[in-house]
Amino acid sequence: MHELSVVANLFEILEEKVREKKGTKIFSVKLQVGALAGVVPEMLMTAFDIYKKDTIASEAELEIKKIPLKVQCKDCHKVMVKDDFIFICDQCDSTNLKTLEGTEMILEKMDIEV
Ligand SMILES: [Zn+2]
Repeated sequence: MHELSVVANLFEILEEKVREKKGTKIFSVKLQVGALAGVVPEMLMTAFDIYKKDTIASEAELEIKKIPLKVQCKDCHKVMVKDDFIFICDQCDSTNLKTLEGTEMILEKMDIEV
């Protein structure tokens, strides 16, 4: 499961942040997951729950906010949300599109006990 390695990376970041703040425990983690980020949110939840045991986040809740894929046409500059992942402009049929958001996974927020 690819999501397990994603979660492993996430935990490295979380543990580093907790160390920076001299925290002892993580209560909650909020992630933004783009539609094209390459992870399935539901599987990420499962992987998080498996991984968190015996870590500083053992009681943490993971919250995932899904970010739709947003693109802009480079020809007519229209901004649109693409649910179908078909990279053609709604307005002028151009395929010259630029991705604005929806390809990343971002750590939005975490609550820790210090
Ligand atoms: Zn266009």
